[in-house]
Amino acid sequence: MVIDKNILVIVAHPDDAESYCGGTIARLARGGNHVRLVLCTNGDRGSHDRALGPTDLVCVRKKEQGEAAEILGIEQVFWLGYRDGELVSHINELRERLIRLIRQQRPDIILTFDAWKHYEFHPDHRSVGFAAGEARMLADLPWVCPELTLEGISPWHPAEMYLFAPQEANYWVDISEWIEVKIRSRLVHRSQTDFARTEEDLQDFIRQIKAHASKAGSACGYAFAEAFHKVDNTDVYL
Ligand SMILES: [Zn+2]
Repeated sequence: MVIDKNILVIVAHPDDAESYCGGTIARLARGGNHVRLVLCTNGDRGSHDRALGPTDLVCVRKKEQGEAAEILGIEQVFWLGYRDGELVSHINELRERLIRLIRQQRPDIILTFDAWKHYEFHPDHRSVGFAAGEARMLADLPWVCPELTLEGISPWHPAEMYLFAPQEANYWVDISEWIEVKIRSRLVHRSQTDFARTEEDLQDFIRQIKAHASKAGSACGYAFAEAFHKVDNTDVYL
C-alpha cells in the first residue's frame, strides 16, 4: 500500500468516483496519500425529475459531490464544467485540459474509466477513459502543448494508471474496512437515488453495492474489493 503519493481520479460525473472506486479512494486518502478529483462534466442532465432544471441540478450535484469528497478524504475537486453527455464533442480540448492538470498536479497514480469496457453505453465514460489515457501518455512530451512550458508548467509522467469498472480485471483493492464509507459517500448523492421511492428500495440498492464489492472480493480472497485493470507493469501499487 502506497503512502505520500499524489493520486488523480478522473471521472465524468458526480457520483462516478464513489460508485466505481470510493472504497479505494477512502483507503488511499486515510492511508496518507493526497487524492484529488477531476469532474469533467457538471452533471446537468443526470436526473429523471422534470421539475429540477439543469441549472438547479448542477447546484445540487456540486453540493452532493462536496459532501462525498469530504467523506472520502478527497483534498480538492476540479470541475471542468462540460455539459453532461457532450464530452465526445470536446475530446481534443478535454485532453489538453487534462494534460495541463496532470502537469500541474504531478500525480504518481491516475484512476479513470476503462474506455474499452464492452457495452459501456455512456459516451462520457468512454470519452473520459480515452482522454485521460491519452493525456497521461502525452503529458510527458515537451512538444505537446509547448505553451505550458512557457508558463513554467513542466512535462510529467504519472507512473501508474488503473482503470476502474474494467473489462478485464487484473488488480483488486481490499476495501473490506471501507465498504461502509463507500456506501455513505454514494448515498449523499441524493439526486442519484431518486429511483428509491421507499426505504426498502434504498436498502436494496445498498445490498447491490455490497453484492458487487463482494463478488469482486471473491476473486482475490477479500470480503469486499474494487476491481481495476492495472495498465503498466510498474511497482508503485495502490
Ligand atoms: Zn457517470
